[in-house]
Amino acid sequence: MKLYNSLTKTKEEFKPINKDSVGIYGCGPTVYWFAHIGNLRTYIFEDLLKRVLEYNGYNVNHIMNITDVGHLTSDSDSGEDKLEKGAKKERKSVWDIAQFYTDFFKEDLKLLNIIEPTKWIKATDTIEAQIDLIKVLEEKGFTYTISDGVYFDTSKLEKYGRLWGESERSEMKGRIEEVKEKRNQTDFALWKFSPKNEKRQMEWDSPWGVGFPGWHTECVVMSIGELGIPFDIHCGGIDHVFIHHTNEIAQAEAVYGKPLANYWLHGEFLNLKDSKMSKSSGTIITLQTLKQKGINPLSYRYLCLNTHYRSKLSFSDESIEFAETSLNKLYEKAFELFDSEKTELSDKYGGYKNQFKEYVSDDLNIPSALAMTWDMLKDKDLSDYEKHELLIEFDKIFGLKISSIKSDENISNSNYIIKTFKDDVPFWTSNIDSLSEEVKNLVSQREDYRKNKDWKKSDEIRDKLESIGWQVEDSGKKTIIKNTSYKN
Ligand code: AMP
Ligand code: ZN
Repeated sequence: MKLYNSLTKTKEEFKPINKDSVGIYGCGPTVYWFAHIGNLRTYIFEDLLKRVLEYNGYNVNHIMNITDVGHLTSDSDSGEDKLEKGAKKERKSVWDIAQFYTDFFKEDLKLLNIIEPTKWIKATDTIEAQIDLIKVLEEKGFTYTISDGVYFDTSKLEKYGRLWGESERSEMKGRIEEVKEKRNQTDFALWKFSPKNEKRQMEWDSPWGVGFPGWHTECVVMSIGELGIPFDIHCGGIDHVFIHHTNEIAQAEAVYGKPLANYWLHGEFLNLKDSKMSKSSGTIITLQTLKQKGINPLSYRYLCLNTHYRSKLSFSDESIEFAETSLNKLYEKAFELFDSEKTELSDKYGGYKNQFKEYVSDDLNIPSALAMTWDMLKDKDLSDYEKHELLIEFDKIFGLKISSIKSDENISNSNYIIKTFKDDVPFWTSNIDSLSEEVKNLVSQREDYRKNKDWKKSDEIRDKLESIGWQVEDSGKKTIIKNTSYKN
């Protein structure tokens, strides 16, 4: 298996520390607001990584944190804590805010069929260990204290900025404002003091004064606490290369003299067609926004599968519509193949299976695997049975719930074939009562007009049904009724 390592800026053969198991740490959400679909792209990428590792026979120990304290609004450590700010805005306790958005985030992951991490950890549950780490840094001479907190002196570490390439080095000046009291521009807060005239809702005693930990310290402590040092893979969004992950590596090296993780993987950003999407700027689209528009969350997953995780992805109404149409076609194809008669498996079947594994194991080349899936479905040399088997096999990585596609038993003998949604995937039924009264009445009126050969009226009703999200087709004696929107 090959993975692109941000540390070496090359695609490398993946060699885990233990033969059969892999430890992954992914930076989790900062829970002061809803996750946006950009954030969720990163978690889809991590889900794909985990599925591909499992496909290659590894047991994956996946740790994800919840950042419920210490992530500041400014990269220079001078801004407010995002959670305290969010709590003030919503007039709720910080703890309630954190719980609410954590629960919401977990629901989003479910809707996207993202496999839950092996373990979740909250930053606020590891404060003691974070204080211990800062104490060691202090003993080793890496810290200094200024008026607003304890800082890491980056000039003391020989190779600060291991993840940086040329672009990060040149970006550095613009990204972090100079803070007067800091010794070096890149120094970062390990422990921030609570503001003098203000009682924070989240604050703890420490040898340096009452306050709260820095975000970069949290992730080092939580990852090493669960996975040891070094562990296999650390991942997150591309924006973390520059500061957050750079500062995690710095602390681990200062304390342990070892690399924190062997492979660093970063997912590129999802941008709106013409602008960046960020929680702090307030321009976000959530999965719920898409759902309210009648878009299946799994169509968003499909959209992400179609672009390599290291390429930028531009989100637009057209791109999500295209993904939704493609996914629905895939579901219809899966339904056509469902229940096909068992045949021998040919060499060609084996060839597709091998090619699929090669693609996904080549730094998660999912877009090529998906394109090959469409070619496979058109291949006249494969039996329907083989095609269906391959679809189910490939979906172990795609995660589009293709194996959940079902129909009720009577479908082949019935007058109706009705496509609805059940548990976020299409469900085919012969039961006309599964439709709403309004749709059922329109269908029956249309049948009456057709019996009387009043094609004009029957077409009017077809258009009416279409306008409320139902497509009607006639196939021999059967009437096929499909919902065109996931919302119906
Ligand atoms: P946050 O909740 O801000 O801590 O971010 C959660 C994750 O989303 C991090 O791994 C970020 O790197 C990632 N992220 C933030 N914005 C985007 C975006 N527009 N596209 C993809 N990933 C993002
Ligand atoms: Zn992190």
